[in-house]
Amino acid sequence: METKRLKNVITFSPKYGYNTTTQVCFWCSKELAIIQLGKINDEDIKAPEFMVIDYNPCTECDEAFKKGILFISATNENNGMPQIVPGIYPDGAWCVVTDEGIEESDAFTEEEKGKLLKDRISLVTPEEYYKLFGE
Ligand SMILES: [Zn+2]
Repeated sequence: METKRLKNVITFSPKYGYNTTTQVCFWCSKELAIIQLGKINDEDIKAPEFMVIDYNPCTECDEAFKKGILFISATNENNGMPQIVPGIYPDGAWCVVTDEGIEESDAFTEEEKGKLLKDRISLVTPEEYYKLFGE
């Protein structure tokens, strides 16, 4: 128990004190929380002003995602973002299409529509994303 508690204690940064960053939602950039990082590594680097900690959507994004099928633009080239699934890096573009929008679309085969409506989420390349949604 003692060990677990101690793991959560930050090391105060000699240069930047609590060395705080603002956690933002990856999907909409909304500011979520102030996080104290303290001393980050041996170099004692300054925390970035904003930081994406994970891909969990904020409440608003979560609500938006529930309204349809989520398309996420992603690439297999390492763009500096954490992987969303192994070897795949999102680039920040996303769009939600309603079930009706999918059913009425001529961009998908019937088989693709069935899979989209079942999976509710689709990772597409930036090229595919542009073809579907413009920029
Ligand atoms: Zn959000």
